[in-house]
Amino acid sequence: ELDWRGKHVTVAGLGVSGIPAARALAARGAVVTVVNDGDDERSRAQAAELEAEGVAVRLGDGATLPAGTELVVTAPGWQPDKPLFAAAAEAGVEIWGDVELAWRLRGPDAAPWLAVTGTNGKTTTTRMLVSILEAAGLRTAAVGNIGVSLLDAVLGDEEYDVLAVELSSYQLHWAPSVRAHSAAVLNLAPDHLDWHGSMEAYAADKGRIYEGNRVACVYNVADPATEDLVREADVEEGCRAIGFTLGTPGPSQLGVVEGILVDRAFVENRQKNAQELAEVADVRPPAPHNIANALAAAALARAFGVDAKAVRDGLRAFRPDPHRIEEVAEVGGVTYVDDSKATNTHAAEASLAAYDPIVWIAGGLAKGATFDELVERSAKRLRGVVLIGADRALIREALARHAPEVPVVDLDRTDTGAMSEAVREAARLARPGDTVLLAPACASMDMFTNYNKRGEAFADAVRALAATGDA
Ligand code: ADP
Repeated sequence: ELDWRGKHVTVAGLGVSGIPAARALAARGAVVTVVNDGDDERSRAQAAELEAEGVAVRLGDGATLPAGTELVVTAPGWQPDKPLFAAAAEAGVEIWGDVELAWRLRGPDAAPWLAVTGTNGKTTTTRMLVSILEAAGLRTAAVGNIGVSLLDAVLGDEEYDVLAVELSSYQLHWAPSVRAHSAAVLNLAPDHLDWHGSMEAYAADKGRIYEGNRVACVYNVADPATEDLVREADVEEGCRAIGFTLGTPGPSQLGVVEGILVDRAFVENRQKNAQELAEVADVRPPAPHNIANALAAAALARAFGVDAKAVRDGLRAFRPDPHRIEEVAEVGGVTYVDDSKATNTHAAEASLAAYDPIVWIAGGLAKGATFDELVERSAKRLRGVVLIGADRALIREALARHAPEVPVVDLDRTDTGAMSEAVREAARLARPGDTVLLAPACASMDMFTNYNKRGEAFADAVRALAATGDA
């Protein structure tokens, strides 16, 4: 380990990653200064606590690099074009994110990492992976961009055999030397381009997850950009490219044959050329994109040597997190599904592909997205559409272009109460056997605090409908 004594480290940002980073460094004898843009009551309280532990804190100035800084450790969300980073680059000072710091402090000596990234499906896949690893009797945890910081996991007292690590594109951007045992990029679609600057830069940051992998680089056969990233990565000798597909798998792939998830990459019995893992029906929900998540999780687990039975048991035990294609209720023969977490068009397209016919509730903050492709590909499954939120006109216009015959109810509302009207309107459009799907394809912050609140509002409205309208 590095000798941190007397080393001048600047930590950018108080908060979930900055505070533990400052503490870990100060405990090792570094001279730590935290710089923070905000200067509110909460940050003052946090600053006072850190100062009592010998950490200097500068509130209200996250732009100036303290003189003598030898290393910057940043919160992952800080945008790369910040003046602080320009100043660091100018001074030849390295910039690490919290994930990089965890890796440098103890990464290679702690449990190996099975890492997951992608535009959508990260949390689901990481949780499926944990479920599988636990079914195999391994000591593990879901860490990273999922609530438990890598610093805590790597430096804490708990012993792990392996870590299931969810990494965001921001975290990967600031983690140049992290080396996973194996890693998966689930898919690549435009998102967060304002932060990364371009699709190329976004893809390159995601691709970092494969750098230095030892056993397997897992890619999505249906998304060739993910395979390109594997090809471009510099990996350890003997590390294999492993594909997952919803179709029949080729050699070195996992896929689906007649409703069975099969593995042709890691076969236990050499007499056979494929290993059966689980049934499609073992995966919840059994929507196509979620089968893909299950295959990716299985691939990582298999790369770690987990047997087929544990894959099946783990998938059976898995329950999705709330607001991710969650079935809320059936009312009058119509199923109501909450996919409030579909905050971009790529995610919404995945859940729209899973149902037919659909009454679709959509709208919110578009974050610069366009809706033509999504609407064009989903048009034939739409029974009707109910639009809410600030940017609903963008979706309405795409519907007019690509699905002119689909009835659209445009609720001219952005108040929280709009959700119950939306559900009532959707119920009016739906026929028995249909699915009413909340998959907004937009962020929620125009109407709600976050996607959880939006999903809860939907579920409340559906329950109210069930109480009154089911008779
Ligand atoms: P993330 O952690 O990447 O945001 P989640 O697992 O929380 O991903 O899923 C977010 C949303 O993305 C889900 O609600 C679903 O709409 C969609 N989704 C999940 N998996 C996939 C996938 N493999 N491909 C496309 N969309 C997906």
